[in-house]
Amino acid sequence: MLGSRFLWKVYAGYAAVILLTAVVVGVLVVRGFDRDLTDQIQTSLHSEALLLENIARPYVDAPTDSAFQHRVWMLGARSNTRLTVIAADGRVLADSREDPAIMDNQRNRPEIIAALSKGVGVSKLFSSSLGGTAMYVAVPVVKEGTVAGFVRVAEPLLALEQRRGAVRGVVLLGTALAVAMALLIGLLLARNYTRPLVDMTAAARAVAAGDFNHPLRIDRKDEIGELAGALNAMTVQLRSQIDTITAERNVTFAILASMVEGVMAVDRNDIVVHVNSAAEAILGIDAATAQGRRIWEVTRVREVSEALTDAMKEDRVRVSEARIAKAQNDQVIQLIGSPLKNANGERVGAVVVLHDVSDLRQLEGMRRDFIANISHELKTPLAAIRGLVETLIDDPQMDPETHRRFIEKIHDQSQRLSSLVTDLLTLSRLESDQGGVQFEALDLREPVAESYRAQVHAAESKRVGIAARVADAPVPVEGDSEAIRELVDNLLSNAIKFTPEGGRVDVRLAVEGPNAVLTVEDTGIGIAPEDQGRVFERFYRVDKARSRQLGGTGLGLSIVKHVALAHGGNVALRSSPGRGSTFQVQIPLRRTAG
Ligand code: ADP
Repeated sequence: MLGSRFLWKVYAGYAAVILLTAVVVGVLVVRGFDRDLTDQIQTSLHSEALLLENIARPYVDAPTDSAFQHRVWMLGARSNTRLTVIAADGRVLADSREDPAIMDNQRNRPEIIAALSKGVGVSKLFSSSLGGTAMYVAVPVVKEGTVAGFVRVAEPLLALEQRRGAVRGVVLLGTALAVAMALLIGLLLARNYTRPLVDMTAAARAVAAGDFNHPLRIDRKDEIGELAGALNAMTVQLRSQIDTITAERNVTFAILASMVEGVMAVDRNDIVVHVNSAAEAILGIDAATAQGRRIWEVTRVREVSEALTDAMKEDRVRVSEARIAKAQNDQVIQLIGSPLKNANGERVGAVVVLHDVSDLRQLEGMRRDFIANISHELKTPLAAIRGLVETLIDDPQMDPETHRRFIEKIHDQSQRLSSLVTDLLTLSRLESDQGGVQFEALDLREPVAESYRAQVHAAESKRVGIAARVADAPVPVEGDSEAIRELVDNLLSNAIKFTPEGGRVDVRLAVEGPNAVLTVEDTGIGIAPEDQGRVFERFYRVDKARSRQLGGTGLGLSIVKHVALAHGGNVALRSSPGRGSTFQVQIPLRRTAG
């Protein structure tokens, strides 16, 4: 508290006023007293002089008279003053302290000159006979209109000096006491007024430092009390506003943090001010270290810094794309940069939204490939049919044997076209969102048995042994019997196709835990490990020529996979080249009530 600069500033001024006042008052009092005392002495000396003038009048122009002298001496002794009677020419006629005969002529004494000209003369001079400074008051003795001489009364000023000293002492002591009290009271008052200010300063500092928990005590009803009240109200208001802003900011951050898209913002100087977690993941950076640094120091993906700086420079939304090398597949990121503006519409930075479009681009690629594949697959049999038909038209004389072979080839090719179109239709039906698959309660043994029966003949004519082992009890599933038939057909026909003469195909349907498990195992050519992951892709075939020759479309296994997934199941493959393959499909059993 006593360290408050404000207190001392207020107090210094106050103390200066008090001291100045004390000095001025002290000096004025002492001076006034001096003057009063001198006036008093002068007045009494003047009265005495007038009395003496009366007494001396008969003697001033008479020859020296010892009786008169004695009288003057006696008068002087009684009154403690020195009385002098002086002739008009300055000679001393009588004196109460000294012998007039040895005294100097007094004509040129200042009080005598003044008495002559003004009627009364006063002077302060040193007097050895009075032992110090003395006051002299002289008046002329007027006789018949002319100045016949002078009388003079003198009194030593020693007593005056002493009284003045005493008065000065009292005045000094009184003033000192008053000053001391005034200073003390002043200090207490100043403290009383500056303490709330000091408290308020501390409170304001605390608020500035974010501490809102120390409201000021309000125990005064004056303006300072009102100020403290206003400060408290302001603190409460500020706190609620900061709370609101913090809550809003948290919501914004939560939204940004939970966004799938990456968001990154920079200020006008390209300094990163925000990075959300998606942007961290996409760009492989850390938000904490990125913030406060320049964008080009933070990421080496040039397109990101360009998107931000260009959006800021050009003041428009700017869309671009960047390819980011990743361990497995490159990531394709769409960048949408836009300028950031404040409430006044001034550009204060830029924000870029990073949108991972890798899947989209991959899908687009797949779609393009798919269309190219379909066109190619359709074109091959069509071209063959066209060539055969043209030859038939051009050569009406063709021998019947060749003619029959041509017709058979045309038949084969059109069959191929037909199965291709059928497979495509099946795939598109499985992929269509609405009504693609018709679910109903069914016993899985039925479509499996139907399909098996349909394929037995093909196996036997190829001399491939085929056997089925199916569960005794019903295998209830929720499914689309037609789609499941397609699945089994494809697995069985593949197994038969890719198993050479003398080989075996085994079909098993069993219940394992919550699933129905269909296994199709063959002792055929098998699939190399590097192809095993890809055989389920559309149009993927290990050996294209062989597949075509065997009437394959390259869509069979993708239909299998689709059907399994559409039923909430999956398909797995185990195979070793030259020894055979095992496809296993799992489909969840239907949960019966109870
Ligand atoms: P495809 O119409 O050619 O049979 P799929 O999609 O049914 O087309 O099969 C894709 C490829 O997987 C086949 O071309 C073949 O190379 C391989 N494949 C499928 N089943 C078997 C199997 N049981 N044994 C060996 N290879 C198989």
